[in-house]
Amino acid sequence: MSKERVILIRYGELFLKGANRGFFEKMLKDDIRQKLKNLKCELKPMRGRYMITSENEYDFNSAFYALHKVFGISSFSVAYKCVSNLEEIKNVALQLMCDKVGTFKVETNRADKKFALNSIEVNREIGGYLLENNDNLIVDIHNPKIALNIDIREDGHTFLFNDTIKGAGGMPLGSAGKGLLLLSGGIDSPVAGYLMAKRGLNLNAIHFHSYPYTNEKALEKVYALAKKLVAYTNQLNVVNIKITAIQEAINKHCDSDYAITLLRIIMMKISEIIAKNRGAGCIINGESLAQVASQTLESLQVTNNEVTLPVFRPLIGFDKQEIIDIAKKIDTFNVSIQPHEDCCTVFLPERPVTKPSIYKAAKELRKIKDLDDLIKEAIENQELLMF
Ligand code: ATP
Ligand code: MG
Repeated sequence: MSKERVILIRYGELFLKGANRGFFEKMLKDDIRQKLKNLKCELKPMRGRYMITSENEYDFNSAFYALHKVFGISSFSVAYKCVSNLEEIKNVALQLMCDKVGTFKVETNRADKKFALNSIEVNREIGGYLLENNDNLIVDIHNPKIALNIDIREDGHTFLFNDTIKGAGGMPLGSAGKGLLLLSGGIDSPVAGYLMAKRGLNLNAIHFHSYPYTNEKALEKVYALAKKLVAYTNQLNVVNIKITAIQEAINKHCDSDYAITLLRIIMMKISEIIAKNRGAGCIINGESLAQVASQTLESLQVTNNEVTLPVFRPLIGFDKQEIIDIAKKIDTFNVSIQPHEDCCTVFLPERPVTKPSIYKAAKELRKIKDLDDLIKEAIENQELLMF
């Protein structure tokens, strides 16, 4: 008798359909390969699934953990593979269930319609065999503590497994194109980036700092967040823009109530230029409606008015607690809460406008005579970091 331990990967039914199936499958396969690149594993395609094998226990377990971060995987299981023969299936079933105690149920999926027994007959046959050989098992088909799944494939092989682990979901990384994430050191923007990467976007990031008002530690925090995102995105290029001179000009020439609005307009303008330079088709930020003065409907209208690329705000309808829950899940929360200044928190006005007007914002910006030069200079002096 021979059985092999494998990881069985299932992917979203959604993108199985349609002419682009091959494209999505390739993107998914590339990402799995990338996530497992330092491990001695083999990735084998099957009909509508992938299978991972490894002779090494450590690599097998590491692969299992790495798969949690692959977008496009709906679920996966550690399974035992044997030839589709009733005696073999019985043997493997008993090995999986010999030390189990409590209620159980056998659930068979028979893709191979040529297999001698139908799925109900397999359930009965294997269930009976397990009961005969393990006195600690009790059948409960409605609410079992333990499930034994038997998947009889068309290719003459059968997979047996107990647990199905929920995958990261979403669409394969990169299958939706590329986006530029406005990454600050806060809680929201890394979560926004994660959610859009999950929908299939490759990410680039842009970070604005106002050195020396913001310090090296603030930058390190952003890099630490970038590294957390890389666990999902495999790589992340971060463009650093020093926006100090522009903030000083706003501070000197413009109505202080509009300082944040104007800064955010300029951040958008610069982001669009960088996005286009880097081949990104959208801008992503962590704004959430009415969270702060700069995220009211009127404020969003003013900043949106500055760009032609679509701006994705995946957190727009989220409460802070919902965002925090995701930040904890993706392990960015503890980095984000470290206290360091952001460029948006220096030169903070006393009464930031909550209902800015597009007209007044434009008028205020015109007071900075050399604005175009300042923007050009900020872009020319950009720093690129690759994670
Ligand atoms: P967070 O950064 O977590 O959103 P926050 O809500 O305090 O914290 P805001 O100042 O409200 O941040 O900014 C809203 C969004 O604007 C951020 O989610 C981020 O996408 C972008 N942003 C803010 N500051 C910066 C920055 N220094 N560099 C790049 N993007 C920024
Ligand atoms: Mg925010």
